[in-house]
Amino acid sequence: MRYREPVYRPPSEANSYLLPVTDGCSHNKCSYCAMYIAKRFSVRPLEEVLDDIDMAAQRMPRTRRVFLLDGDAMTLSAAKLVPILEALRANFPELQRVSSYTNAISVNNKTDEELAQLRSLGLTLGYLGLETGDEIVNERIVKGASIDDQVRAVQRAQAAGIKMSVMVLLGMGGRDRTREHAIHTGQVVSRMDPRYISCLCVTPVPGTPLHEQVEAGTFEMITPEETLEELRLLVENLELSGAVFRSNHASNYLPLGGRLPADKQRLLGAIAHAQAGNVPLKPEFLRGL
Ligand code: SF4
Repeated sequence: MRYREPVYRPPSEANSYLLPVTDGCSHNKCSYCAMYIAKRFSVRPLEEVLDDIDMAAQRMPRTRRVFLLDGDAMTLSAAKLVPILEALRANFPELQRVSSYTNAISVNNKTDEELAQLRSLGLTLGYLGLETGDEIVNERIVKGASIDDQVRAVQRAQAAGIKMSVMVLLGMGGRDRTREHAIHTGQVVSRMDPRYISCLCVTPVPGTPLHEQVEAGTFEMITPEETLEELRLLVENLELSGAVFRSNHASNYLPLGGRLPADKQRLLGAIAHAQAGNVPLKPEFLRGL
């Protein structure tokens, strides 16, 4: 296995075999993201990827989960993804799922038939960082895809049978858009109707445009208490057919988890309990950032 550091994966892929099919991120411009700043985007040659799969099959023949690296493996055409998925199926008899980060443009560039083909070959889960449902904030953070593009991508992937996990960033609107950010994000996630939703808290990382904006005073971070209010507005505006909701990433001040819509009132109750000061918020030194 050959990796170019740094390597990132979602927390839920902790036990997956991480297979690099690209290096870096084809967009690499989001204002808050430091993940691939130091990596020039490139596509790995297919022979190298197939070699890696052979090596992994010898060392970990019972692999059940594979996560395709890096920032957006779906940027590869279906024609390039198909032989990789076929090799994974052929080499790992116990394979249960293949997943990757996805961006909206990469999904929307594929036809419905191609998405269905990728699903039939085992690509069953995609992670999409929506971050915000607010148009103004979406422009500010240079997401590279419109809100409608992102809604369409999640709906199309799921129509093809690929479950989608959508990530949102509390605090991404700064103080001036905090309310709009939270409400619009809840509404947009509802339009997407994903199977999983993860809430994280925005963290300005040195080297990113967001960090420079914070230093320059043009982006004002919200307080932990204001983050709770965003969480409340977000959950209040979620109307979903059936999803797992989590705010248990290390960056969160109030870890929550449940199923929506069934647990909506319980989650809102837990947030109100915390807002009333009955639950200590996670201290900064425990946020693991
Ligand atoms: S957030 Fe995702 S799409 Fe944006 S730069 Fe980072 S890896 Fe690329």
